[in-house]
Amino acid sequence: MSDKFLKGRTALVTGSTSGIGLAIASALAAAGAKVAINGLGSAQQIADAIAEVDAEGDGGTRHFNANLRDPAAIDAMMAQLAEWSPVDILVNNAGIQHAVSIAEMPPEKWDAIIAINLSAAFHTMRAALPGMAERGYGRVVNVASVHGLVASANKAPYVASKFGLVGLSKAAALEYAAQGSRDSGGITVNCICPGWVETPLIEPQIEARRNGGSRDDGVRSLLSEKQPSLRMTLPAEIAALAVFLCRREAHNITGASLPVDGGWTAQ
Ligand code: NAD
Repeated sequence: MSDKFLKGRTALVTGSTSGIGLAIASALAAAGAKVAINGLGSAQQIADAIAEVDAEGDGGTRHFNANLRDPAAIDAMMAQLAEWSPVDILVNNAGIQHAVSIAEMPPEKWDAIIAINLSAAFHTMRAALPGMAERGYGRVVNVASVHGLVASANKAPYVASKFGLVGLSKAAALEYAAQGSRDSGGITVNCICPGWVETPLIEPQIEARRNGGSRDDGVRSLLSEKQPSLRMTLPAEIAALAVFLCRREAHNITGASLPVDGGWTAQ
């Protein structure tokens, strides 16, 4: 990508050692941003993620290793980031899933999903938004899900966390809507709401649908139930939308929850 419109901006992408987050971090770097990545993984996985993001951008990518279950660790990460380079673009992407019925859901899974998928975004936004307002430009892109807009059975904590993330984003969008200007780009807070995206997160659900058949059989079964396009989205395609939301021209797109779901929520 040759349009380096994010030159001079700094981005934090949570959960960017894998999947959608890694694709967003790479795309932001390609658009010129200095990128802080975050997420779990072995030293090798983290080094590989840094190298992948650096290869797209101008180098200087750093990993911040907060476990997002822990609010104190998030506060420490945000303080380190403020010293390293104040965050102009905050992508709350980290998320986990556990797909069983409410009766079978271990309470500790509820706590973990709410902490990582929802509360972590509150903690990072609380730290980052005031600085964005002072500088007149800021972007919060929260990776929610179609499950922030409609429910499915056997995903209660995930659905609750994503509906919560959509609500949190709307409230923050309203609080910061009048900050900055059209020229500076303003402060916007939006959700991207993907349907099925091809990442490690959904492999257990594909596996559960194989019924003795191939992985492709599992994918077909998953898509045919809910996603009318019958195509999975690629992480880079979600990243392209995240990058667009960071443009100055997107200053009036705020408080929106944008489905990328092949028609799932049109039904
Ligand atoms: P993934 O499993 O590939 O990546 C998840 C990332 O979150 C990893 O980097 C992981 O290390 C990080 N993470 C998990 N727990 C963490 C913790 N405690 N602290 C810090 N980081 C942590 O998943 P993905 O599919 O790329 O999902 C990314 C986001 O997209 C999630 O919020 C997910 O809910 C959402 N989403 C995914 C899909 C899909 O079909 N894949 C659809 C809709 C929404």
